[in-house]
Amino acid sequence: MSLIDRFGEQLDRGRAETTATATATTTSPAQAQAQAQASAPATPAPLVVVEDIAKVFDVSAPWLNRVLEGKPRSLLRAVDGVSFEIPQGQTLALVGESGCGKSTVARMLVGLYPTSRGRVLYKGTDISQLSTGSGRAMRSQLQMIFQDPYASLNPRWKVLDIIAEPIRVHRLIQGQAAITERVEALLGQVGLAAADAQKYPHQFSGGQRQRLSIARALASQPQFLVCDEPTSALDVSVQAQVLNLMREIQQRESLTYLFISHNLAVVHHVSDHVGVMYLGRIVELAPKRTLFAMPRHPYTRMLLDAIPDMQMTGKSRTPVAGEVPNPLNPPPGCTFHPRCPHANDRCKSERPVLMRLADGAQVACHAIEEGRA
Ligand code: SF4
Repeated sequence: MSLIDRFGEQLDRGRAETTATATATTTSPAQAQAQAQASAPATPAPLVVVEDIAKVFDVSAPWLNRVLEGKPRSLLRAVDGVSFEIPQGQTLALVGESGCGKSTVARMLVGLYPTSRGRVLYKGTDISQLSTGSGRAMRSQLQMIFQDPYASLNPRWKVLDIIAEPIRVHRLIQGQAAITERVEALLGQVGLAAADAQKYPHQFSGGQRQRLSIARALASQPQFLVCDEPTSALDVSVQAQVLNLMREIQQRESLTYLFISHNLAVVHHVSDHVGVMYLGRIVELAPKRTLFAMPRHPYTRMLLDAIPDMQMTGKSRTPVAGEVPNPLNPPPGCTFHPRCPHANDRCKSERPVLMRLADGAQVACHAIEEGRA
């Protein structure tokens, strides 16, 4: 049994506990899933379309230092030409090693970083147009859950004010009594008590704080949630509870998620589609089942091969070999070629582009194209 399967069992156990504590849930997850499947269209239209986005950071030394020391400008291409679509009500997970650009993509999708190139369309509207006028109402439908529940909640504010902030900013409800009632209902949705509204963040555990972050994200009635490693700072048992809670809320509210994670076990259980990123680019994009059953790209295979399998104790495992190259000076051609067992001369000079395969998977690799791997 692999760690992915064991984590799945833990999720199932956690789901039962979460269902028992979520006071506002009137429909079981199984019923909600059946209802969602029955009512969902066969091919949901994309809610979010990302077209060739790039993000370049200028990390040069100060101008005077560059002049005196004769240093050139340094540009860091954190994201370089990423495109994907997320159908309504589904989850796309982006996975990859630290520094691959997945969190930068997440921040561009909610407008925290402007794009250096390309555009992000939400319901057909460029999100760069959503900061003024009627676009503000649509922007409130895009929310983000951050990795660190300790840093993302203002320690000096009561929970009531933290969760009420987006309601007040977007003027969704008028009157303190109505706002308090809404906050208490949101706390119920995430399995916390109404009385918790009067507490401060330091009075909660890590898992409870992440529930508060989810309640705050839900306060503006979003349709699209960007979740940037929302469980990586939590214990494994608490991770399962929070992931199950997020899945229940998604099914109940028909939410669309972009889920960022470096944990393939988590990705396996939350996603409908998976994008594997390496040094700022997507190297493989496929439905979850396809990607886990038949990984194509050598980097994806390397990541999956490194997952320990509890039934193969004693069998040698293939660790993820090599180091991620310096993104300030990436290798030419395919940036994975210094670590790739299938690299040839073409790989060292020509950058592969994503090509669509017969089963819908997309992969950027010369060896796949040439039938060598
Ligand atoms: Fe390896 Fe070449 Fe494919 Fe890159 S393009 S992953 S170097 S085989």
